[in-house]
Amino acid sequence: MTRAGHHASRSGSDHQVTRLRTRCPHCNAWARIRTSYVITALYTELRFECQNDACGHIWLASLEVLRTLCPSDTPNPEIQIPLRAQPAPSENAMAEPAAMRAAG
Ligand SMILES: [Zn+2]
Repeated sequence: MTRAGHHASRSGSDHQVTRLRTRCPHCNAWARIRTSYVITALYTELRFECQNDACGHIWLASLEVLRTLCPSDTPNPEIQIPLRAQPAPSENAMAEPAAMRAAG
């Protein structure tokens, strides 16, 4: 693993999301996040690239805040996240197909 090639020096250190990893749905090799697009405070789109040179798959995935497990001590009044203890969210939240956004 080479850390030297990490050039994520855009705006400080809040790029922890890029440490996430997932596997390529095609070849099951590890994939890396190349770019993250913050759509809203609760929804981020991630561009993954398969690390298997023979595959080369690049895709867009979504990262969505689902539930609060431990409440914030500095809550933002504009941010409303369901608590785990509450019943399931209303079906309004499920009506929108979040994965069907244009991939640019
Ligand atoms: Zn692949």
